[in-house]
Amino acid sequence: MNPSTHRARKRFGQHFLTDEGIIEGILRLLAPAPTDKIIEIGPGLGALTLPLLERGMTLTLIELDRDLVERWRRHPAQDRLTVVPQDVLTVDFAQFGNAWRLLGNLPYNISTPLLFHLIPHAAALKDALFMLQKEVVDRLVAAPDTSDYGRLSVMLQYHFHMEALLEVPPQAFTPPPKVDSAMVRLIPKLPHERPECNPVALSRVVAQAFSQRRKMLRSTLKGTLPADGWDALGIDPQRRAETLSLEEFCQLSKVFNAPRD
Ligand code: SAM
Repeated sequence: MNPSTHRARKRFGQHFLTDEGIIEGILRLLAPAPTDKIIEIGPGLGALTLPLLERGMTLTLIELDRDLVERWRRHPAQDRLTVVPQDVLTVDFAQFGNAWRLLGNLPYNISTPLLFHLIPHAAALKDALFMLQKEVVDRLVAAPDTSDYGRLSVMLQYHFHMEALLEVPPQAFTPPPKVDSAMVRLIPKLPHERPECNPVALSRVVAQAFSQRRKMLRSTLKGTLPADGWDALGIDPQRRAETLSLEEFCQLSKVFNAPRD
């Protein structure tokens, strides 16, 4: 598509990929097979979309910018395109059935809410390959006892295997963003690959424990555990949330009673 006729819109987080080497690298990471059901979030001017169409792929495109939606509706390969003209955060992914693959150079302002939006659909997803702000990728793959480790790390690591891939500098985009970017791959965990606990309870205890990340669990989780809670769990209440493994959070979630508002 002709980029000269579209002005990048800040409110849609539009930073279009223009570095051919990076585009090639992303397509190599995606390694699309002809039968793949690929859903691209934010095709923009088609940096990733057009080469995939050239390879004969059939694609679903989710795009919020109406001008870009109109362009995609006029693209000659209509028989291989489904355009969903919607905010991805309102898209019901259940409509796509099973084993779909997600691709997106995401607008950075929606990346964290999108990751949480995908959690309930994890089982139907084959994998996701996203370009995100590098700082968010660092948080996704962070291990306990590091400053990047937090609610995002624990909740996403419960549901997905994640791998940080290619780092991408601002100059790879037009206009360049102010921050570094990186690719990350998410593959949903099978039930036996996750520690056993209820994800809703896990989410509550994790949010509460990280509400004041510098404080001891004794203080952030005060009044939320049974009297013998800490002893029974074998977790030292003087520890901070950022030192707890996913398995330990899962243990905690089983005895946690959310405080009343
Ligand atoms: N894929 C293109 C590329 O790599 O050059 C464009 C990437 S650009 C960073 C983000 C794209 O997402 C834009 O096309 C933008 O219009 C679209 N977008 C922004 N917010 C969106 C939303 N909430 N739902 C769906 N698409 C959105």
